[in-house]
Amino acid sequence: MKIYLGLIAAATLVMTACAPDASKTAAPAAPASAAPAASEAAPAASEAPAASATAEASATAPAADVPAECSITITSDDAMKFEPKEIAVKSSCKQYQIVLKHVGKMPKAAMGHNVVITATANKDAVLKDGSEAGLDKDYVKPGDTNVIAHTKLIGGGEETSVTFDTSKLTKDGAYEYFCSFPGHYAQMHGTIKLVD
Ligand code: ZN
Repeated sequence: MKIYLGLIAAATLVMTACAPDASKTAAPAAPASAAPAASEAAPAASEAPAASATAEASATAPAADVPAECSITITSDDAMKFEPKEIAVKSSCKQYQIVLKHVGKMPKAAMGHNVVITATANKDAVLKDGSEAGLDKDYVKPGDTNVIAHTKLIGGGEETSVTFDTSKLTKDGAYEYFCSFPGHYAQMHGTIKLVD
């Protein structure tokens, strides 16, 4: 019994000895509660780099990882049908993917299609420069700074895609997408805008 009491006394001594010590080491309670918080944060922190690594990988990959709501498929054919005629890009999408399908049969030299995105104000210049650049350049002037994004030119039965950063669009901006193959604009164009 004496030993037992002695142990309790000793324990009490240890506790009282520790208490002031702990309260001295740093604004009381803080160190005690900070410790578990830190260990909880640790796994979260270790997930973060993994997530950003994935994001970087998808940025360089051919865009297969873009969420469905951040992607649209435009169809085209030998009759220059171009659908849809309007694209709403959600601002929550960091990147947006446009897939172009040519469901016709004609070769690209005769009935090639692409998708070029520009500010509406730059449309005429892009069409003119693209026409001058010619078939070999997919009817897009190389390095044209008026072009926000564009796919390559494809022929019947082919498919292509382009992914661009939505930061290139502003909500109050007016943009168009179209096929820059000479003579195709009239039937093959639509509006694209950034929305909430
Ligand atoms: Zn076309």
